[in-house]
Amino acid sequence: MPVGLVVVRCLPTPAMLRAMSTPATPASARILVVEDESAIADTVLYALRSEGYAVEHCALGREALTRHRQAPADLVLLDIGLPDLDGFEVCRSLRSFSAVPVVFLTARNDEIDRVLGLELGADDYVAKPFSPRELVARVRARLRRHRPAEVDTGWREQGEFAIDREGCRIRYRDRLLPLTRYEYSLLAALLQRPGAIFSRAQLMDRAWDSDADSADRTVDTHIKTLRSKLRAAGAEPDPIRTHRGLGYALEP
Ligand code: CA
Repeated sequence: MPVGLVVVRCLPTPAMLRAMSTPATPASARILVVEDESAIADTVLYALRSEGYAVEHCALGREALTRHRQAPADLVLLDIGLPDLDGFEVCRSLRSFSAVPVVFLTARNDEIDRVLGLELGADDYVAKPFSPRELVARVRARLRRHRPAEVDTGWREQGEFAIDREGCRIRYRDRLLPLTRYEYSLLAALLQRPGAIFSRAQLMDRAWDSDADSADRTVDTHIKTLRSKLRAAGAEPDPIRTHRGLGYALEP
């Protein structure tokens, strides 16, 4: 068992829960609780709702899969011992169409071993009986960690760069680069595989819609303006390397 796991050997009463819960936060994350034992489900639902989460409950694995397909949750709390599919099967099915964080609710040590041993794509587990406070803390931590991938801001960090391919924008060390359309396309192409050498023809191909006015010189000209803008943004040494006779590469 990993260190730091707090297991409280009793289920708290609603009064204890009320005393423990912090004031509701405007957390809007949706959590799907899959648990067939109603006493445990009630405790979990109460603890999460007290924290301001929007919570849904399913008692069956198949029902949970359908529910998540229809309205994806931000996190799934998944009991292992379910009457129809077991939690492992549910997790495997979920993973075939969703990257949602999954936190297992486990009752037995051998289940914990399986959660840790199998590469099911589970993100965490909480051992039963658990303290609602710990459960909420795990859920909160998991949601926080998952946020960059789940809440899509459009920006992807790549070393010193960040690229928003939908918005056709690139930042360098948090500074938005004032790029023209072709400068953007060139740098975006280089960012696709840092370290890889792209020939001028490949760059033309990726950055220009038509090759009607294509010439190696066109790429060179735009690389030159791109470099000066990167320099203005503090990029020193130049992150774009020229490979003579071959093309350009972005320093990985
Ligand atoms: Ca169960």
